[in-house]
Amino acid sequence: MKWLELTGDDLAEARRKAEGVALIPVGSLERHGPHLPLGCDTLTIEYVTDRVAELEPVVVLPVLPYTSVSQSAMRAGAVHIRSDILLQHTICICDELYRNGFDRIVLVHGHGGNVPMTSGVTSYSLETRKPYSVYSIAPLAGVDVASRMESEHYGHACEMETSYALAIFPELVRMDRVQGRYWHPDPDGSQPQKHGIDTAINWIATWPDAVCGAPEKGTAEKGRAMLEEWVASIIDKLRYIKQDRVLPEHMARSADFHDDMAD
Ligand SMILES: [Zn+2]
Repeated sequence: MKWLELTGDDLAEARRKAEGVALIPVGSLERHGPHLPLGCDTLTIEYVTDRVAELEPVVVLPVLPYTSVSQSAMRAGAVHIRSDILLQHTICICDELYRNGFDRIVLVHGHGGNVPMTSGVTSYSLETRKPYSVYSIAPLAGVDVASRMESEHYGHACEMETSYALAIFPELVRMDRVQGRYWHPDPDGSQPQKHGIDTAINWIATWPDAVCGAPEKGTAEKGRAMLEEWVASIIDKLRYIKQDRVLPEHMARSADFHDDMAD
């Protein structure tokens, strides 16, 4: 059940079937090496959540493509939304979903760089005592990626993402641009991380080209296997969320939060 395709008259029935669960797919717009499209994460998470909606009763919002890509923001094709604006924008969407009767909202990510933004949204919803629960599912949560990779390094515009791309939108992949190439981590750039220090640029300093390992090892077959597992994993999590009591009860009690602290 897609928000874009439902009529206003049909929303109440869709919400009942979905047990009040709405799903927001979160993508990105950024460079994905020399060979994958700028909308790689957006196209991938749209495909994944569309498949989820075919198999499980849930209401799926249109993909949010304008998000946080701060570490690759200097690259051609990046459209970065400042984190304070993205936080408020996402909260506004959640507020509107609640006004429409949805009280369990799930952010489903196609881009790892948005996970810190999600922590902001979930914390903010608790601090401001929102009457709804926000859940988050990280990219590839529950998917066995490692055992399928031939390349030692992967994570972005890599064997893994090339595999999805070849499975979903092969016509947009320029494999000839990555033949015989391997992207290694930058030993100087990864120094802060090696010292256990977190900075805003840890990832991009380690991977200055924002490409990891050997994208040429990607295949549609690997992509299809991981996508199938990804869809199944999200469905499993949605079934838990539909009956979860832990977060909704905590949210309901959050008005007493400061009294608890005083005890
Ligand atoms: Zn990506």
